Amino acid sequence: MGHERMTRGDALASVGGEFYGVVEDTAKALYIRALTDVPPDVRAALAGAYARERSTVARQLLGIVLRNIEIADERRTLVCQDTGTPIYYVSLGTGVSLDGARVAEAIRRGTERATREYPLRSSVCHPVTRENPQTNTGYRIPAIYWEFVPDADWLEILCVPKGSGSESMTFLKMLPPADGVAGVRRFVLESVVEAGGNPCPPCIVGVGVGGSADLCVALAKRASIRPIGTRNSDPHLAALEEDLFSSINQLGIGPQGLGGDTTALAVHIEHAYTHITHNPVAVNMQCWRGLRASARVHADGRTEISV
Ligand code: SF4
Repeated sequence: MGHERMTRGDALASVGGEFYGVVEDTAKALYIRALTDVPPDVRAALAGAYARERSTVARQLLGIVLRNIEIADERRTLVCQDTGTPIYYVSLGTGVSLDGARVAEAIRRGTERATREYPLRSSVCHPVTRENPQTNTGYRIPAIYWEFVPDADWLEILCVPKGSGSESMTFLKMLPPADGVAGVRRFVLESVVEAGGNPCPPCIVGVGVGGSADLCVALAKRASIRPIGTRNSDPHLAALEEDLFSSINQLGIGPQGLGGDTTALAVHIEHAYTHITHNPVAVNMQCWRGLRASARVHADGRTEISV
């Protein structure tokens, strides 16, 4: 047993102190990148929607969105003024040995530095006193979620500065199992209608199905940041994604809620097994900006950033 543990320990790639400095620099770079760049899949989906849109007003609005992105590219400036609530998903390879508390602290410092040095508006405040530390950080913020990847010797960081317009439009319902898929479908459509123009459509509609109440909402958010063009690996849920995408785009809400064919750029579902008496469903939306940027940091400090 002891020998086995030692062998496994030897296989781990240990990181030195400078690794945490690289993580801090990476967190800073990702926060700025997510606010100043738009992922290629989101750009392609917006361009495709512009080409297909039949409403004159909606087409004009999509044209403005595309021009807005061009201007942000030319001037290397923010795509939108909202710096969001900083959220990081850290995927930790099980083949790399590091101190998670130091990684979390490095990410917090990187977020603060991005805010101070870029500089960025601080969108984060105390929930009761409304005191704003001007750092985009505070108690439990940035929110950091940990995931583990077998046999990988790297760390992946995905930064999602969640805009308030889309985050405000988050919905959860603990449906009974008897409501079935029809109940899930109805709740998603009702949520999109209730959200209207508030989440800055066209959106990536994230849907969580199953789990517990908190897990269901977390799944909906995870779904909303999946790249456009990806499908749930479960064929039942992949079919529901396509069905909801088509139904949502027949609602006529359109870009910024002013009518048109393009309400959703995509619908993504993430799921988990659930209690036999539950049928939870949650909706969390990502606005047209598709805010996200990610990086892979190798044990030797090499870093690759992408959006
Ligand atoms: S929801 Fe998105 S596009 Fe709308 S204001 Fe917030 S960050 Fe900007």
